[in-house]
Amino acid sequence: MSTTTPFIENQSDKIPNPAATPITVARGDGIGPEIMDATLQILNAAGAALDIHEIEIGAQVYEQGHTSGIAPEAWDSLRKNKVFLKAPITTPQGGGYKSLNVTVRKTLGLFANVRPCVAHDPFVENLHPEMDVVIVRENEEDTYGGIEHQQTDEVAQCLKLITRPGSERICRYAFEYAVANNRKKVSCFTKDNIMKLTDGLFHKVFEEVASEYPEIESEHWIIDIGAAKLSTAPEEFDVIVTPNLYGDILSDIAIQLTGSVGMGGSANIGEGIAMFEAIHGSAPPIAGKNIANPSGLLNAAVMMLVHIGQAEIAEKIQNAWLRTIEDGVHTEDISSEKLTAQQVGTQDFAAAVIERLGQTPQQLKPAKFNTDGPAELNVSIKPTVPATKSMVGVDVFIHWHDVTPDDLGAALEAVSNADLCIKMITNRGVKVWPNGFPETFCTDHWRCRFKSSNDQPVSHQQIIDLLTRLSAAGIDFIKTEHLCLFDGKPAYSLGQGE
Ligand code: NAD
Repeated sequence: MSTTTPFIENQSDKIPNPAATPITVARGDGIGPEIMDATLQILNAAGAALDIHEIEIGAQVYEQGHTSGIAPEAWDSLRKNKVFLKAPITTPQGGGYKSLNVTVRKTLGLFANVRPCVAHDPFVENLHPEMDVVIVRENEEDTYGGIEHQQTDEVAQCLKLITRPGSERICRYAFEYAVANNRKKVSCFTKDNIMKLTDGLFHKVFEEVASEYPEIESEHWIIDIGAAKLSTAPEEFDVIVTPNLYGDILSDIAIQLTGSVGMGGSANIGEGIAMFEAIHGSAPPIAGKNIANPSGLLNAAVMMLVHIGQAEIAEKIQNAWLRTIEDGVHTEDISSEKLTAQQVGTQDFAAAVIERLGQTPQQLKPAKFNTDGPAELNVSIKPTVPATKSMVGVDVFIHWHDVTPDDLGAALEAVSNADLCIKMITNRGVKVWPNGFPETFCTDHWRCRFKSSNDQPVSHQQIIDLLTRLSAAGIDFIKTEHLCLFDGKPAYSLGQGE
C-alpha cells in the first residue's frame, strides 16, 4: 500500500523573504482550516514577516496509521522552526489514539500554557465586565502523563505525577510573567487538603518561589472554592498558576465567562520553542459553515508575533481586532441583539479586521506590546538535593473478588513475619481491616500495608520474599508501593480512618 507523506514543507508560492521568521503552521481539523485561513489573511495584510512551513496533523494523519496524529517528518519542521501556529484538531475517541495536543506539548517540553481571559465590555456580552485574568497552567505533568492501567475487574487507575522541578518551573514562570507584564498578584490553586503529597508539593514549591518575589502579592486557594470565587468575582484575580488538569478546566470556564470560548488564544511555552493555539477545540458541528469565530486563533497569533519580536505588527492586528469588536461586527457565537451591529461569518470577520488595520479602539484599552523584543523569563530551577531515604514497609495491592476484609486479613496474617507484617487493609483508600465498618463498600482492589513488626528498616529482599510468599499462597498481587521516610519524614499517605 502506498501512503502519501502528510508533510508539506514551505508551500508558499511567494519568494522567501530573508528577514521573515520561519514558523510551522498546521490547519488542523473541523473549523481549523477556515479559522487558520482567516488568521493568515489578517497576518499577511498586516505585513507580518513570516516564512510559513505547513505540516499536516490530526484526523487525516491518524487515518494514515500514525496513532500519534503527527508524521515523523513533521517533527523536523517543528524542531527546526521552534515556533508553531496550530489550529485545533479532532482527537479520535477511544482506540489507541493519544491526544496529539498532549503529545506535542510534552515531546517539545512546552511546560507552560498561558491563557489570558479578558472581558471586552461593553461590546461583548459577558458575566464579569472587569475580568482580566491570565491562567498559567502546568502543561506536562499531573494526570496528563496518561499512565493508566486497569488493575482488577472493577478498578482502573490513572497516575497523577507532580514533580518538584516541574512545579518550580511553572511557579517561577508565573511570577516572571507577572513581573514582565506588570501584574500584581499570583494565586495558586490546588487541592492539597486532600492530595497532601502531590498537590501539597506544588503548593509548597509555590510558597518557596513566591518568597523570591516579595513585590508580587501571592496567595493560595483550594481549587474548589477558588474556582467558585473565580466564576463569581474574577476581578479579584490577576495571574493564576495551577496544575495541569485544574488549569485545563478552569481556563475553559474562565474564557467562557468573557463571552465565548471562541475568543481565547493561548501560548504553550518551552525553553526556546513555543506553540500558539486557540483555547477551543475543532468544533465539528459548525465546521465548514463559515460561522466559526477566528478570534481565538488570531489572538494566539498575536501572542506569537510578540514572541518572535514582531510586536508592532501584533499591536496593529490587536487594535484592528478590538476596533472590529467595538464596531459591533461579531460572529454568531458573540452576537447579541443589543450589542451587534452586523453579524458576519468567519471570512467577513477577517475582512472587517483587515479593513481596520491601522485603526485603534476608541473605548477599549489599545494594545501596547514591548517592542524591545520578548522579555527573557528566568525559569531556571534549583538542583534537587537528595534526601536520606529509608524504607519502612510496603503497600501491596491485591486483586481478590468476593473476599471479606476479615478473611483477607487472616490470609495476609498467614504470610506475615517479623520483617513484614500486615498492619492495615484499605479499599478505595478507606481502612476496612482491622476493625472496619460493615457499611463501607468494597471493590475487588485492596491496598495491604505491611511494615516490620519492630519498626526496623525494610530491605528490597524482604519485600521480594513477601511477594514470593504471597505468590505461593495464590494471592494475586498487582502492584507494590514502597513506604519510605525522606529525611526521617513519612512520605506516604495514611489510610482514611487509620
Ligand atoms: P470545542 O471547543 O470544539 O467546542 C465547544 C463548543 O464551543 C461547541 O459548541 C462549539 O461549537 C463552540 N466553539 C468552539 N470554538 C468556536 C469558535 N471558534 N467559534 C464559535 N463557536 C466555537 O470542544 P469539544 O466539542 O469538546 O471538542 C471537539 C474536538 O476538539 C474534540 O475532538 C476534542 O478532542 C478537540 N479539542 C482540540 C483542542 C486543540 O486542538 N487544542 C482543544 C480542545 C478540544
